[in-house]
Amino acid sequence: MLREKLRVRIVVALFIVTTFVSAPLSALGQKASPVAPNRAQVEAVVREAYDKFRSDTSGKNADYIPYLAQVDSKLFGVAVVTTDNQVFTLGDIKYSFSIQSISKVYTLAMAMEEIGADKVFDRVGSEPTGRAFNSVFAVADMPSHTGNPFVNAGAIATTSLISGKNADEKWNKILDFYGRVAGEKLTLIDEVYKSEAATNTGNKALSMLLAKYERIYADPFESVDIYTKQCSVGVNVAQLARMGATLANNGKNPATGEQVIKAEDVPYILSTMTMAGLYDGSGGWAWHVGLPAKSGVGGGIVAVVPGKGAIAVFSPRLDEAGNSVKAQKVIEYVARKLDLNLFSPRSVGLKGE
Ligand code: GLU
Repeated sequence: MLREKLRVRIVVALFIVTTFVSAPLSALGQKASPVAPNRAQVEAVVREAYDKFRSDTSGKNADYIPYLAQVDSKLFGVAVVTTDNQVFTLGDIKYSFSIQSISKVYTLAMAMEEIGADKVFDRVGSEPTGRAFNSVFAVADMPSHTGNPFVNAGAIATTSLISGKNADEKWNKILDFYGRVAGEKLTLIDEVYKSEAATNTGNKALSMLLAKYERIYADPFESVDIYTKQCSVGVNVAQLARMGATLANNGKNPATGEQVIKAEDVPYILSTMTMAGLYDGSGGWAWHVGLPAKSGVGGGIVAVVPGKGAIAVFSPRLDEAGNSVKAQKVIEYVARKLDLNLFSPRSVGLKGE
C-alpha cells in the first residue's frame, strides 16, 4: 500500500516536472544558451502570431509558374525546430510545397564543400543586386554578372559548380544532400518540375547571358535544368524548419547528429541570407526583423536564429518582391516578442533599464 502511494507520488512529480519545467529553446545540452527563451514562451508566442495572422489574405500566389497559381492559398503552417531538436508545429504541417529559392541556400553549401568558400566567392560573388531575383539587367550591369548565389543568375551559376559525371549524378547528389540537411529523404514534386521546365525561358536566357560573360561553369541548359529540379523539391514546413535548424546548429543536423555543412561555411551562408535572402525586400527585412532568412516563391520562408533554432512558415500568398506575406508577418512578430533580432544587444540578454 505504502509502495503504491510512493509510486503514485513519483508519477505525479514526474508529470509536474515534465509539464511545467520548460526546456530552453537553445540546445547544446547542459550548455544551453542562458538567453534562450524557454519552450513555453516560444509556443505561446508562435501560437499568438498564428492566430493573429491566420485570416490575413493579402498578397497573391506566384503565377509565372502555372502549378503555383493553383496551390490552395489558404494553406498555412508554422514550425519551430531548435538546435536540440525540439519541434513545435501548427497548422498545415503535412502539405509538401516546392522549396523553390530556398534550395539556393543548400546548393551554395554544397558548392563551398566541393571547391571551398573562396572559390565560390570568386566565381559567384555576394553582392545585393537591388533588382528583382530574375533580373536580366542585373546580369548585364553588375561587375560580377552573377550578383550573389540567391538571385536566379547567381544560383544557376552556383548549381553549375556542382561536380558529377553527368546531369543525373549531379542532380542525385543535390537531392541526397538536401535530404541530409532536412534529416529525412526528400523527393521531387514532378508536376512542379514539369510546370516550371515548360515555362522557364527567362532562366534559360539568364544562363546563356552568363555564358557570354563566362560566368557559368557547366553546360548552361543542363545547369538550368538541374536548378529547376532543385527548386521543385517538396518539403513540409517541419522539414524546412529542420533545414534551418541545421544552419542554426553550426551545420550539424539536430535530428541525425550528422555534420552536413562545414561549420566554417555557416557564417558565409548566413551573411548571404541576411543580405539577399528576401530578394529586394532584404533590406527592409534586416531593418525590421534582423534574422538571416530565405524565401521561395512556393510560399515558404525559413529564418535562422544562430545557436538557438529556426522557424519556417508556409503560406502561398506573396508580396510584390516574391516573399510570402503571412510568413514575413509571423516571423517578424515572433522575432520581436522573443528578442531574436541579431543586430540587437537584447538578443543576447542586454535589456537596458
Ligand atoms: N524556381 C524559381 C525561379 O527560378 C525560383 C524563384 C524563387 O523562389 O525565388 O524563378
